[in-house]
Amino acid sequence: MVKHYVKFYPVDNGDCALIKLSNGKTVIIDTQIREITDANKNDVYDVKADLLKELKKDSEGRPFVDLFISTHPHSDHCLGFEENFYHGKLEDYDNKKDKDKIVVGELWITPMGLNDDIDASAVAIRKEAKRRRKLYDDDEDYKGEYGSYLRIVGYDKDKEYDSRYGYVPGTEVTKVNGGNLKYLKMFIHAPFKESVEEGKDTNKKNKVSIVVQHSFKKEDGTVVCKLLTGGDAEHDVWEKILENNQVGSNLDWNIFEAPHHCSWTFFNDSGKDEVCQAAKDVLNHQIGYMADVVSSCQSIEPDDKQAPPPSYKAMKEYKKRLKGGSEHFRNTSDEFKSSKEPLVYEINDYGKVKKIYVKSTVQTVVQKPAPRAGMK
Ligand SMILES: [Zn+2]
Repeated sequence: MVKHYVKFYPVDNGDCALIKLSNGKTVIIDTQIREITDANKNDVYDVKADLLKELKKDSEGRPFVDLFISTHPHSDHCLGFEENFYHGKLEDYDNKKDKDKIVVGELWITPMGLNDDIDASAVAIRKEAKRRRKLYDDDEDYKGEYGSYLRIVGYDKDKEYDSRYGYVPGTEVTKVNGGNLKYLKMFIHAPFKESVEEGKDTNKKNKVSIVVQHSFKKEDGTVVCKLLTGGDAEHDVWEKILENNQVGSNLDWNIFEAPHHCSWTFFNDSGKDEVCQAAKDVLNHQIGYMADVVSSCQSIEPDDKQAPPPSYKAMKEYKKRLKGGSEHFRNTSDEFKSSKEPLVYEINDYGKVKKIYVKSTVQTVVQKPAPRAGMK
């Protein structure tokens, strides 16, 4: 039986998730790794220490991730990249100076991540992406290699990037870092051409988030769980995704990461109470009665007590629309407060199971493999 994991790290308002497949292949989506100090060590989860436990080492003893997806260049998605991930030529990796820096086998970046006006914590990612791109541009036969594979996801104005390092929405990816993932298929939904153009306005970088449906498979290739992640994509992006999507099942999900840390902007513009059709449609793509919405943010307080995101109103809307009931809405901070651990799903031949922590021992609550009826 396969055993894949998806770990949503508690990083306050921000995103950092790890996918680890049965065969050891790994994907990290965004990073918000904060520095641990004496003052905050009880409140901040040590993401780096956990990653070092989870990630494999390459033949030179360097920890590595097969794929790092940088959804967009905001600091709550890029923090800690510079200090914790290796950037530069791999042959310059110094086992002492760079000890414990994670090598990124393949890097995905949105076109906006290459622009001049980005958050300071995104600069190291941009620099690394540019270094990789130059390798391709300087040598027309270059096909990438471990530590230098690159994909720019989206468009270069109105044209596609060089096919060796560009992906556009509608692409299905099963190979990263030079090898087959085998148990995971990633379908790219966004960013679109128009969003990349609009995203030039610095306040609109959320529009250019990379949106992906991750389909996890069991040994015979049957899909057993679908995870939909979209960084900080807002309702108009989801509308466009729905318009463009050819195959309905490409939007189905067993786990949906609430966009923009449970912001109301998934449902409508802030200040507008009506729920847009696009949000309703995306939420109607939940599979069966066990689907979960995961909100990677602080504990959610009523809107008059806390400046959103996260939005209390958005949380209520998710809870209302989850077919399995409000307990299928999960919050990374609440999980951390009760268990001191990240929110973890194990994915096996029967689908996903949320890990339950009981005091110091970890125990997985086995749910019956039943209601398969909803599995489209
Ligand atoms: Zn964000």
